Amino acid sequence: MRCHYCQGEGTIFVENIGEWVCEKHFERYFLKRVDRVLRRVRRGSSILFGISGGKDSVAALHASSLIAHKYELKIGAAIVYTGLAPECLEVFRSLVDELNIEGIVIDVRDWGIIVPPDPLAACIVCGVVTRYLLNRYAVENGYDYVATGHNLDDMAYFAFNNLITHSLNYLYHQFDSVTQPLPDYKMAGKVKPLFWVSDNDALNYVKLKGLKSCITKCPHEGRDKQAILKPMLADVRKRWPPSLVNFVSSIRELAKRSSPGERRINLCEKCGYPTSGKVCAFCRLREKLKEVID
Ligand SMILES: [Zn+2]
Ligand SMILES: [Zn+2]
Repeated sequence: MRCHYCQGEGTIFVENIGEWVCEKHFERYFLKRVDRVLRRVRRGSSILFGISGGKDSVAALHASSLIAHKYELKIGAAIVYTGLAPECLEVFRSLVDELNIEGIVIDVRDWGIIVPPDPLAACIVCGVVTRYLLNRYAVENGYDYVATGHNLDDMAYFAFNNLITHSLNYLYHQFDSVTQPLPDYKMAGKVKPLFWVSDNDALNYVKLKGLKSCITKCPHEGRDKQAILKPMLADVRKRWPPSLVNFVSSIRELAKRSSPGERRINLCEKCGYPTSGKVCAFCRLREKLKEVID
């Protein structure tokens, strides 16, 4: 196989363009797409990377660290730790050491969250808790944005799933590679450095750079909707390589152009952090866990 860009040996397949590329051009392709996201972040701001230890968050942080100086971005990293996967904590520690950035371990047990030993229950806890604690840490410690490892395959899935469930609110307000901070609502902005690269691109990047990562597979995997919809979308891309990039791009543009009016955000009656209802999902979850333990 020849590289799509040069005469060198093509050793890595890039699904979104349907071509083989050499290592040098893969790295160039990957960083260019991450750059496309980071240049939309306000110059000179600071970003807290939420790291699970999985390949996506590791790739997002590492690639961003190579570009951050260009936009005078300050970066730090945090792992929301449940006590269940010490190998992921190891990955996190060695990565922040290597990059020489601030690395914070947020232990959910310090927040009164006892993760149930049943992996299925643990899974429900982790999404809500991680999102809440990362935002809260960022807001309280002067970070403007929280970055996550969501990639193009995740975004295509979110878009498709929101369309078939007619949940347009998420698409209107959050479906973008960068959303700006709302300090009045104690809401950090969101950055998704891998918005334009595929799941496999992230895996290839981590391999190419010799970065350690851990398996963070959700125990629900294979049972939930993602397991049905993601392979279906991947199949569409296999036939028409640029299709998922175009799909995500189209939804993003449509969402931006439609004007849904003001976004309704309240502050939680218990903790003062943003929610769409009266009490936020984190506080409700904490109450529920208390009942279970009592
Ligand atoms: Zn090449
Ligand atoms: Zn709350």
